[in-house]
Amino acid sequence: MTEFERMLVVGFDGLDYQKIKRYDCENLMLESFGKLDLENLPLKTPLLWSSMITGVRPEEHGIDSMLKFKGEKVRKYDEWLKKVFNRFGWSALKLRETVMHYLFDSSISAPTKENMKVDSIFEKVADSKPLDVPGHSHYPYIAGKMNVNAVYKKYPPVSRDRVVRDVEAEHLYRKKQLFENIGEHKLVMQHLHYPDWIQHIYSKEEKDGEVYNEMNELAGEILEEADDDTLVVFCSDHGLANGGHRDEAFYSVNTEIEEPVKITDILFRLLERVEFGRAEKVDEIEV
Ligand SMILES: [Zn+2]
Repeated sequence: MTEFERMLVVGFDGLDYQKIKRYDCENLMLESFGKLDLENLPLKTPLLWSSMITGVRPEEHGIDSMLKFKGEKVRKYDEWLKKVFNRFGWSALKLRETVMHYLFDSSISAPTKENMKVDSIFEKVADSKPLDVPGHSHYPYIAGKMNVNAVYKKYPPVSRDRVVRDVEAEHLYRKKQLFENIGEHKLVMQHLHYPDWIQHIYSKEEKDGEVYNEMNELAGEILEEADDDTLVVFCSDHGLANGGHRDEAFYSVNTEIEEPVKITDILFRLLERVEFGRAEKVDEIEV
């Protein structure tokens, strides 16, 4: 039996399970709300979202980290620089950091579905719309990285204000896109990098109340826009505290779901509740 006509997934990157409770974000705590079981996976953004949308671990889907996707040249340089500079001690290490900063910044590119070794849920559902999903979609990753990496903190390429401006512009764009797509497809998944980026940039929880309140309000607007036939999933890929990722991801669903809810099974289990019109489409989905 299917209960819903369509599914809407909104990924709040880095939104922390404990903090959602602490700041009492009621719109983010739907009928089933809990800590998402990350199955001991490394706390790396593209790796985690890729695991969620493929239903398999990184060994199988092939998206294992950001650094792997630095340009080939840079990866070679880095290995070479490490070998050389490690011989010269501390000052040389600083030089390596500086060199890496410029090479890294100009060449980093986020992994996409071309790098993925298996099909994702979007290839399995005919009428699906992935929007900025890490590990799958082409999208700018640079804005957040600028103030995250230790190298960048030491040698910031641009001011924090500039980074925040870019982050806010990107967030505005994604929100607009999300609302344009609600109700338009069988499966819509919009990724919002904003909570992760902002928590990284400010890193000392000084801005947490503001960010969590804002995300709670956004969740409320999304719920108003989605109709009763829409299965709504809010979730994150990891939590975040003191500027670092932690194993406190959350899930929140407007229907009952039995625990434990794992990062590799949440979407596929919920998809079974959605009517796809033609039975053979549902049969094709591997659970
Ligand atoms: Zn993340």
